[in-house]
Amino acid sequence: MAKLIVSKFGGTSMGDAACMLRSAEVAYRQSSSMVVVSATSGTTNDLIALGQTAERQSWGEAEALITKIHQKHLKIAKELKVSSANMQMLEQLIEEMSSLAKGVHLLKDCSVKAMDALMSLGERISSILFVEAMAQVLARHQSAKKAQWLDVRDVLRTDETFGKAKPLTNEILGLCQKHLAFLPEMKTVVVTQGYIGRTEDGMTTTLGRGGSDYSAAILAEGVSADVLEIWTDVAGIATTDPRLCPQARPINEISFKEASELATFGAKVLHPATLLPAIRKNIPVFVGSSFDAEAKGTWVRKDVDEHPLIRAMAIRKKQVLVTLSTPEMLHAHGFLFQIFKIFNDHKVSIDAITTSEISVSVTLDDSTLLNKKLIADLSEIADVHVEENLSLVSLIGNNINHTAGLGKEIFDTISDINVRMICLGASKHNFCFLVSEDKGPEAVQRLHKKFVEV
Ligand code: ASP
Ligand code: MG
Repeated sequence: MAKLIVSKFGGTSMGDAACMLRSAEVAYRQSSSMVVVSATSGTTNDLIALGQTAERQSWGEAEALITKIHQKHLKIAKELKVSSANMQMLEQLIEEMSSLAKGVHLLKDCSVKAMDALMSLGERISSILFVEAMAQVLARHQSAKKAQWLDVRDVLRTDETFGKAKPLTNEILGLCQKHLAFLPEMKTVVVTQGYIGRTEDGMTTTLGRGGSDYSAAILAEGVSADVLEIWTDVAGIATTDPRLCPQARPINEISFKEASELATFGAKVLHPATLLPAIRKNIPVFVGSSFDAEAKGTWVRKDVDEHPLIRAMAIRKKQVLVTLSTPEMLHAHGFLFQIFKIFNDHKVSIDAITTSEISVSVTLDDSTLLNKKLIADLSEIADVHVEENLSLVSLIGNNINHTAGLGKEIFDTISDINVRMICLGASKHNFCFLVSEDKGPEAVQRLHKKFVEV
């Protein structure tokens, strides 16, 4: 039986008419049954700017942004020679955008709810244009399949956390069964939007910036897809950031566990949460470039053939090390509980942690430091010492915590670089440590050379 494939195309793959046609060609060749698209590149940012401008500046300035967004999409529509029905739809969506912006302007209030409604226009507009590109490519190949547009909000039910809504898995499964049961017949290519959803009450939500990958994974789960494809502008996941290390090369395959560590610890290719629905349903994920569909790309799967000790490396900049010490911790219990409770109350996430008898060190993203109240609360129970401008370097692979001599090899390679903190042991797949930010790139380059370029 043919495989059920869900393909997601990011903003750059939607950049203009040529990009859309190229992406549609990829979807055709892959025999995708469902295509999930992002807004055209830059449009989500423009819509955010529109919300903010409408709230704070003159209507004229907001109008200029509306015109910019309108013209950009009109140009694509004309180049694609879209049908009059889709042209009308485009104009209606621009009209909706304009009305929403006007409302924000009159109220001088751009709530997260209003912002979500505004931002949803990016994906809704791009998908209207893409369904046209898809139909043209299918016709060109004399395919019997039809392209069909779907308002993803009919199936992607979320809670009411506007700006970062949580998808409601069970409801989504039910809605997919109701609206997309025809998908396995393979007669249709459904084109729909990433990033957006709808609450039970019919309000539009978004899943958080970059959320289209996540949408695609949720939909792949919802329709029980055999494969999820993420098409972007780079040919797969690289062994490390190629801007940092020109010798970086695409990874052929990586396990879900390694990929989750890689994404969490700094690699930009996949939204960390993206993988969850795919992991849950054991759906293999392919990451490739819509600009170079022939390139091999990367498979992310539960089981992989090769298990190299170090497969990839990541770096996470702007890290802060917070060290909490108190003699009261000596032989006492509950200290970690108190600390974690404070971080939890402030909704701050901790990345790495080490402890000694009377102190605990944790790493955080530096933006959280702006939270003076957090530091004040921590100071109530311990002496707090904060160090900034650090980078967290991670080596991702297999059997890391059971390989004798690995630590020695790693630290011999960077023996002249001070390592401020080490985290090893919790995962077979990750070894990470902190160095000063100016030494981060060098540490990655040397370790990449030693462990990956062999
Ligand atoms: N268009 C949204 C954004 O730019 C979602 C996405 O592209 O994944 O954040
Ligand atoms: Mg994007």
